[in-house]
Amino acid sequence: MTSTHLSLHNKTAIITGSTSGIGEGIAHALASQGANIMLNGFGDQDKIEAARSAMAQKYNVKVGYHGADMTKPDEIADLVTHSVKTLGGVDIIVNNAGIQYVCAVDEYPIEKWDAIIAINLSSAFHMSRLAIPHMKKAGWGRIIHMASAHALVASPFKSAYVAAKHGLAGLTKATALELAKDNITCNAICPGYVKTPLVENQIADTAKARGISEEDVINNVMLAAQPTKKFTTVESLGALAVFLCQDSASNMTGVMIPVDGGWTAQ
Ligand code: NAD
Repeated sequence: MTSTHLSLHNKTAIITGSTSGIGEGIAHALASQGANIMLNGFGDQDKIEAARSAMAQKYNVKVGYHGADMTKPDEIADLVTHSVKTLGGVDIIVNNAGIQYVCAVDEYPIEKWDAIIAINLSSAFHMSRLAIPHMKKAGWGRIIHMASAHALVASPFKSAYVAAKHGLAGLTKATALELAKDNITCNAICPGYVKTPLVENQIADTAKARGISEEDVINNVMLAAQPTKKFTTVESLGALAVFLCQDSASNMTGVMIPVDGGWTAQ
């Protein structure tokens, strides 16, 4: 099967943090539309290589992998250079890598604060500043930040995460305005709770921080915030990322898009 008829044929996308969860789902969604993909993230190297080659074969696109640590600007620069060299450009970036740490603000470990700001916020700045010149040269680009409902509202015990995600909202708007005449859009996706390893891991931590059971965290903390009482799916976020990359979304920029079961409508 050729991918020439697909909407993202010949586009190149870097998705940070795509060895797991939402990023992996978005990589599949963009590849299914013909985009060449650069995967990034941590994990078992054999498993990553198996996922990379399976994706390339399934969608008949080029798929690369670069293990840049999103806390390190020089490694982020190498990721972008490597993508340009091996895939021919950078048309789409999805700044998705992220971590969480749940703790009261007055007890928050300084190194956790620094890591969350670096990975969840500063890496999106570095990716943007490095990719924009390539997008300008190509006359087309899409910047998608993976923010969160926590870019729009807060929850207790997540000060660093909420601060980083609110920071992404500012970056989204400023970038969109700067690039408004360059055929490059910048938007942020704001999911509610999605059942990925990131969320699975925080169930126990939230239970401890709040002194409640893990079942109570799922029903009374996580899904309590979402009137639909449903987790957001990885597939729905992949479909939204694909939409944002279409020409039909070319006049949509600087927007924070909640996919949160009604959470932030309240
Ligand atoms: P996940 O833990 O499943 O995946 C995180 C990815 O980031 C992994 O590939 C991991 O290897 C990578 N990563 C972590 N630290 C890194 C670093 N220093 N350098 C490079 N890669 C690194 O998490 P997820 O739930 O898929 O989350 C993805 C994004 O979506 C995050 O930004 C998160 O804040 C956001 N988000 C998640 C939810 C949710 O409920 N799961 C809700 C809203 C927003």
